[in-house]
Amino acid sequence: MTQIQKIITEKFADLQPMHDFVLAPLTYMKIGGPAEVFLELKTRASIVDVVQFCTSQKIPMTVFGGASNVIIDDAGLKGVVLCIANDEYEISAEDAHVVRAGAGMKTAIFVRKTIDDGLQGLEYFLGVPGKLGGAIYNNAHYMSNLIGEYVTRVEVIQENGKIVWLEKEACHFAYDYSLFHENRDILLSVEFRLTDGEKNLSLQLIKEATEYRAQTQPLGEPSSGCYFRNSPNTPELQKLLPQFAEKKEVPSSYLIDHAGLKGTKVGGVSVSKKHAAFFVNDGKGSSEDVKELAEVVKQRVFAEYGVQLREEVFFLKEKSYAKL
Ligand SMILES: Cc1cc2nc3c(=O)[nH]c(=O)nc-3n(C[C@H](O)[C@H](O)[C@H](O)COP(=O)(O)OP(=O)(O)OC[C@H]3O[C@@H](n4cnc5c(N)ncnc54)[C@H](O)[C@@H]3O)c2cc1C
Repeated sequence: MTQIQKIITEKFADLQPMHDFVLAPLTYMKIGGPAEVFLELKTRASIVDVVQFCTSQKIPMTVFGGASNVIIDDAGLKGVVLCIANDEYEISAEDAHVVRAGAGMKTAIFVRKTIDDGLQGLEYFLGVPGKLGGAIYNNAHYMSNLIGEYVTRVEVIQENGKIVWLEKEACHFAYDYSLFHENRDILLSVEFRLTDGEKNLSLQLIKEATEYRAQTQPLGEPSSGCYFRNSPNTPELQKLLPQFAEKKEVPSSYLIDHAGLKGTKVGGVSVSKKHAAFFVNDGKGSSEDVKELAEVVKQRVFAEYGVQLREEVFFLKEKSYAKL
């Protein structure tokens, strides 16, 4: 047993920490080695206890929610890996349009509950896999809709162990971006402001979005969604691709597809033939395959369009919350 395994097991035996726990099956990409210690935290209180303890003891932590937007290294993760799973849900007693939920609640379940409670606004996000914490971390999008637009406040544990509510403006939401890329805050809860809904209309929007996803995305295959972000438009791209001239971003799927990369494979990982921005795993893929394929795609797209693609997914290997 390692020192960290011993410390965490003694301190948090009731949370059933797992040692050398292989993470691949938990991820949508089905890639990733073992966590030195793995904990699934189902309550806000347990997240606070573990995070504050690990921070005070300088034990490295890595966090994920649904693991639908991450690649985990085959070598695994040192320290404590936390799966955030708190799924509290409440409508504000002061304002029936304000809803708060745990960062570990599945996004689809949250959206469905808000609709059942007579609210609308988040329908397009019902099809986004994973949990609210992950959706807020990267400001999940559907077409031009960004989930951050509906957020009023986010509750976090900061690196110094303090728990604070951050107003929406402080979260700096932008396309595929939030403040949480820049710091080591761990999201505990999210508060949204929605509007009065009409259930049948909401269900119709969900149906349309679900059908569109099924037509355009390789939903049956292991993947982390779009591997690359869409690329900021530039005067050069506007001339080269006038069909996107009015858009702020050019779809990475278009660039990858028209660079002839659909189906390109390294080891067990390939560029999806259905949606060129998705990397899919045939079940034998490794994190090295993912990185190599990403290089092949980046180089070809740069050669064709002069565009430097940037990852939308997150490599958890490089993300450690506490300094050793
Ligand atoms: C088939 C498919 C379709 C997809 N479609 C969409 C789409 O339409 N739109 C879209 O935006 N995305 C899409 N995605 C990507 C992904 O589902 C979303 O980004 C999702 O919101 C990620 O949530 P998650 O809980 O799985 O995050 P994870 O993958 O668990 O984590 C992602 C990042 O967030 C951080 N994080 C997670 N929870 C916390 C927390 N509580 N505190 C601090 N940091 C945290 C992690 O450390 C990591 O860096 C798709 C993915 C797949 C597989």
